[in-house]
Amino acid sequence: MTSSPPSRPRFLDASFLGPYGENDTLLEKLVVEFLRDHVYWRRNFHPEDPPAISTAAAQHPDYLAFEARMRRALHQLSAALKKSVPFHSPRYIGHMASDLLLPGLAAQILTLPYNPNNVTEDAAPVTVELEVKVGLQLAGMLGYSNDPQRPGCAFGHLTSGGTLANYQALRLALALKAFPVALRAAGVPDLALPEDDWSAFNLSPQDAIALVDAWQQWLAQATPAERRHWQARVHGERIEHRGISAFFAAHSELKVPKVLAPVTAHYSWSKGMKLLGLGRAQLEQLPEKGMRIDVEAMDAVLHRCQKERQPVLLAVAVMGTTEYGTIDPIDAVVAARDRYAARGLGFSVHVDAAWGGYLATLFRNPDGSMRTREEVAAEFRQFPSPAVYSAIAALGHTDSVTVDPHKLGYLPYGAGAFICRDHRAITLLAEEADYVFHDTASQEYLRRYRNLGQFIPEGSKSGAAVAGVYVTHSVLPLDHAHFGRLPAQTLRAAEAFHARTQRVAEALRGVAHVTVPFPPDSNLVCIAINPCGNHRVAAANAFLRRLHDELRIDPTRPVQDKQFFGSVTTLRPDALGDLETRRILTELDLDPASLREEDGDRLLILRHTLMNPYLLDEENGISYIDLYCDYLEHQIRSLLASHA
Ligand SMILES: *Cc1c(COP(=O)(O)O)cnc(C)c1O
Repeated sequence: MTSSPPSRPRFLDASFLGPYGENDTLLEKLVVEFLRDHVYWRRNFHPEDPPAISTAAAQHPDYLAFEARMRRALHQLSAALKKSVPFHSPRYIGHMASDLLLPGLAAQILTLPYNPNNVTEDAAPVTVELEVKVGLQLAGMLGYSNDPQRPGCAFGHLTSGGTLANYQALRLALALKAFPVALRAAGVPDLALPEDDWSAFNLSPQDAIALVDAWQQWLAQATPAERRHWQARVHGERIEHRGISAFFAAHSELKVPKVLAPVTAHYSWSKGMKLLGLGRAQLEQLPEKGMRIDVEAMDAVLHRCQKERQPVLLAVAVMGTTEYGTIDPIDAVVAARDRYAARGLGFSVHVDAAWGGYLATLFRNPDGSMRTREEVAAEFRQFPSPAVYSAIAALGHTDSVTVDPHKLGYLPYGAGAFICRDHRAITLLAEEADYVFHDTASQEYLRRYRNLGQFIPEGSKSGAAVAGVYVTHSVLPLDHAHFGRLPAQTLRAAEAFHARTQRVAEALRGVAHVTVPFPPDSNLVCIAINPCGNHRVAAANAFLRRLHDELRIDPTRPVQDKQFFGSVTTLRPDALGDLETRRILTELDLDPASLREEDGDRLLILRHTLMNPYLLDEENGISYIDLYCDYLEHQIRSLLASHA
C-alpha cells in the first residue's frame, strides 16, 4: 500500500521531455522543424542574394580545422555538463527546480536564432508585444484588472529573475511615494495637492496614482510651451533627479522611508535596499508567528512608525517563502495598508510570489473569476487552509507582485516577472519624459510599452525567454483547468509526502525523532530529525549535516552515485516565535536551552521541494515518494549504527 498521489492528467505526459527523455522524438521534431523554418526565413529575405559561403568552403582545411575545434569544445562542454544537477529526475526533490515545460523550451529554442532584444520594439517587433501580453496574463492570474481598455489596467514585464522584479517593486513604490512631494515643491497650479510634505509622502498608492493621472490630464490640456516648462520643473524636484540625500535635505520634515519585510524574506530585499541607496538599516524585519508574518507585531511596528513620523515605503508579504514555502497573511497586510492610509501613514503592499505565484492558477476559473475555497479544496486533503485561501484571494488588492516563471512556471532560467496593479504608475519610471497619453484604447496601451527599456531595470533583454513564457501560457492558460493541473499534481504529491513521513516517524520510534515541524502551505515539505537519546541542538545539527551530505551534489563524484537529492534549511527562533520553537524542540526531545550553544542557535532541517510531475510512475508502479522515504529511513538507521 502506498500513499501516492492520484494519477496525473494525461496531457502532462506530453508537457515535458520526461525523466527518461521519453519525449525526445517530439522535441527533436519540433527543433528540426522550426530550425528549418528559420533557415527558409533567412533565404526568403532577399532570395536574389546568392549564398555568401560557397559549398566548396566546407572542404577548405581552415574550415575543417575550425569545425574540429568547435566540435572538441562542444564535446568538452557536453561532457562537463554531465555533472549537472539532475533537476528533471523524480529523485531530485531539493531546490526549486524541475523539468522544463516543452512548449516553453521549444519556443525558446525556436526564437534564439532570431535573437530578439526586448529592450525596444525596434529590436524585437514581435516579442515586445508578447511580453506586454504575458504581463496581462499574469495580472489576470493574480486578480488584477487586465483589460487595457480600462484606465486602471495592470502592467507587467519580465525580468532576469525575482531579484530584479523585487528591485522594480522598490523603485516603483519610491517613485510613487515621492512624486506628490515633487508636485508640491514645483508648485504646479490647478492640481488638488496635499497640504504638506508629510501628507504628500503618505498618500495611499491609489490616491498617489490618481494624482499622477490628474497631472497627466493637466499636461494633456496645457500648451506645448507650458507642458515643457512644468515637466522640467517637476522633474527637477523629483527624488530620481535630486538623489536621496538632496531630496530629504530639501524636505526636512521627511525621513528616509522603511521597508517592512518578514524575517524569512529573500535576501534580494537586502540587496535592493543597498542598490537603491535607501540603506540596509531601513529594512525592518517583521517578526513571525508559526512561519508567517505576525499580524499583531506588524501592527505594533506600523503604530510605532506612525507615532514617530517614520514613513514606510513598502510592506512585503511572501507567497511561498524560499525556505519553507509558507504563505504570509496577504489579506491582513492589505487591510493594514488601508487602515494606516486612513490614519495618514501611506505605503504600498508588494507580494514576493517568486516561488508561489503560479499556485494562484488553482484559484482561477477559465473566465478569470475566483473559485470558492470548497471548489479548490475538493481535490486535496488539506490545501488550501482557510488562511492560505484568504491570502491568495487578496492578491488582487495588492499594489505589485513578483512571480518567477523560471520556478513554478517550469521554464528555463532568465524569466522572472514584475506586475503592478495599475499601469498609470509606470510613467514615473520612464527614463525620458514619457509622452503624454490620454487614449485608453488597448492599441494605445500596447503602443506605449513598445519602448520597454524606458521602464524596466534592465537594458537588453532576451526576447526568446519572453517567447517561452508566452507560448507556455497560451498552451496552458493560467487557470485551474489548464496550467493549474500542474501545481495540483505537485500539491497532492506534497500531501502524500507529508502523510508518508508520518510512517517514517512511526517506523523509527525509539531510534530517532522525526517530525514535520509545521504543516506545509504549499509544495515544500520540511523534516526535522533528532536521534533518540540526544538532547542538544548542536548534535542534532551535526547528524542532519551528515545525512544531507548524501543528498547533495558533490562535484568530485558522478551524479549517478547519488540516490536522491534533497536540500536543507534552518529553523530560527526569530522566524518561529518562542511558542513554536518550544513546541518543535519538545517534539524532538531537544533541550531549548541548548539552542544558545555554539552551532546551535538554529535547528537544521531537511527541505524537500515536491515539484516533479512524475513522482508517481504509474507505468511501472513506482512511487518515488515511497522510495525516498524508505531511503531516508535506511540512511538514518545506518548513520546511527555506524556511529554507535
Ligand atoms: C527565488 C526567490 C527570489 C529571487 O528570485 P531569483 O529568480 O532567484 O532572482 C526572491 N524571493 C523569493 C520568495 C524567492 O523564492
